[in-house]
Amino acid sequence: SRPMDVNAVRGDFPILRQRVHGKPLAWLDNAATTQKPQSVIDAISHFYENDNSNIHRAAHTLAARATDAYESARQKVQAFIGASSVKEIVFVRGTTEGINLIAKTYGAKFLQPGDEIVLSNLEHHANIVPWQMVAKEKGAHIRVIPVNDRGEIMMEEYQKILGPRTKIVGLTQASNSLGTILPVHEMTQIAKRYGARVLIDGAQSVAHIPVNVQELGADFFVFSGHKIFGPTGIGAVYIKEELHDFVPPWQGGGNMIRNVTFEETSYSEAPAKFEAGTPNIADAVGLGAALDYVNRLGLPNIAAYEHHLLEYGTEQLLRINGLRLIGTAREKVGVLSFVLPSKRTEEIGRHLDQEGIAVRSGHHCSQPSLRRMGVETTVRPSLSIYNTCSEIDRLADAIRRIQRLPS
Ligand code: PMP
Repeated sequence: SRPMDVNAVRGDFPILRQRVHGKPLAWLDNAATTQKPQSVIDAISHFYENDNSNIHRAAHTLAARATDAYESARQKVQAFIGASSVKEIVFVRGTTEGINLIAKTYGAKFLQPGDEIVLSNLEHHANIVPWQMVAKEKGAHIRVIPVNDRGEIMMEEYQKILGPRTKIVGLTQASNSLGTILPVHEMTQIAKRYGARVLIDGAQSVAHIPVNVQELGADFFVFSGHKIFGPTGIGAVYIKEELHDFVPPWQGGGNMIRNVTFEETSYSEAPAKFEAGTPNIADAVGLGAALDYVNRLGLPNIAAYEHHLLEYGTEQLLRINGLRLIGTAREKVGVLSFVLPSKRTEEIGRHLDQEGIAVRSGHHCSQPSLRRMGVETTVRPSLSIYNTCSEIDRLADAIRRIQRLPS
């Protein structure tokens, strides 16, 4: 494999050519969403310009093309995450919808009063709230795996929390607020000893770490297209094939049935069983193009480049007097949450925007993880393949200027 050519990569992303407030745009909000390469934009346009149809293969030529395009996108997802069959890949709107699907089908069916759902202290609200909703309904309880002051999972505590009542373990593979990479492989193996089902939230990992769901051993794996250079409104849930008969259908309607009478309905097999109604065909095609793009660059190359950026960024930010990095795990993706004494995070975000630097400031939909670190909000620069060390220098210089502003 060859190292990444960041200038060539930047050339693939038309949005990066603009100026914001007269300054070149530095997109450092990748944990919220990533930008789209021309090939993804073109794949979506091509679909609407040439192949648009509903996906009833047999109806006519365009229907066959649209069906092939949609199913080929499914194959790309299957290959990308190492699933053993295309039947295991269900298209959804994104991570949030995927976790709700599992909580409200499998969770609602199998959770009993007194059962336990184990979640880490690092979860996004999307991997907390759906479980809380089903737990309330079923009389089940949420148990939380604590983290240390660096934001790393406390493995001994995790082992102590697991027990015969553990039915589901939900883990993010990488934290969107602190950047921590969780040892999900090891944690899944441990959960299996208790017969628990494991859901991995891959929203912050798939664009940065090679994933193989079979090696992970997870039962469910969820991610969003828009965090891996694909469009919004499309994502996928991997459901291990041996569980297909145990996961009841979710939404009812067209596409998910075999036979319908007013008395009774029999359902299609997965994945159709979980895809009621006309799906988001064009954006699935866009997601397929995004995975092709990532494969062309190579995830190991991406990971190496981003690691280099993360190390450089960490060093530069730590040189700034008084800056406190929030989340200092030894294994991290490119998230550099920080706070400054006596400057509000929203104010810092606003000043950075004036310099053309896009970052998110706030609670990042992960309030429990930030509260564990003793803060309510952070400023969160987050890195991707098109970022450069010179953008990080601009960020550090801008932070120094903000720090000197009267408070
Ligand atoms: N989980 C994690 C770890 C995330 O970072 C996000 C997005 N911020 C989500 C879940 C939710 O993803 P989406 O909004 O695309 O459904």
